Amino acid sequence: MVGSNYSYIKEMKEYALAENVPIIQEDGLSFLTNFIMKNNIKKILEIGTAIGYSAIMMAITCPNVSIVTIEKDEKRYLEAVKNVKKLKLEDRITLIFKDALEVKLEQEYDLIFIDAAKSQSTRFFLNFEKNLTSRGYIITDNMNFHGYVSKKEEEIKSKNLRALVRKIRDYQEFLKSNEKYETTFYDTGDGISVSRKKK
Ligand code: SAH
Ligand code: MG
Repeated sequence: MVGSNYSYIKEMKEYALAENVPIIQEDGLSFLTNFIMKNNIKKILEIGTAIGYSAIMMAITCPNVSIVTIEKDEKRYLEAVKNVKKLKLEDRITLIFKDALEVKLEQEYDLIFIDAAKSQSTRFFLNFEKNLTSRGYIITDNMNFHGYVSKKEEEIKSKNLRALVRKIRDYQEFLKSNEKYETTFYDTGDGISVSRKKK
């Protein structure tokens, strides 16, 4: 990585921290980029751009990939546009400013990375699985949601958080019982699931 890129990425991470933008954790990111390289992934669809950190890191680490990424929050989207430009990745990262549940895409992708509203992962999965190549992968981040998903309900004080955890558990069940996919759950980062479309 070029030195100036490195310092810019550091700035992005500092911005995320200061503005409470939940970017992917370090080990989750290594998992993702290793996975991309190992499986020769070329086309990626990301749901949840935030400020573009994960998309940019995938693009920089994996020179063969191109990424389409969707974000519904305008401030974050504009920040992502700025960051992608700054790192001269406009050719490889396409940013879409829209609610992902309203986006219909024609293209197919080798990997769909779901990292948006955690309560809606099932809906994102169902909206975009038609855009997956025949043996493609759907990877979902934050399956453990800071450890809350494995906690007992009564240990979680906030009602909203309990509802969110229930949704993530429903999504886990949806993946486990989905006959069309083979899903593996990893404790890496904030919990990552990898679902592969069966033949
Ligand atoms: N992938 C990013 C982090 C994304 S954080 C990274 O690791 O760098 C999750 C993002 O998803 C937030 O910015 C949020 O605004 C966005 N989001 C939530 N629901 C969405 C939806 N329905 N459509 C598009 N973006 C959504
Ligand atoms: Mg995440």
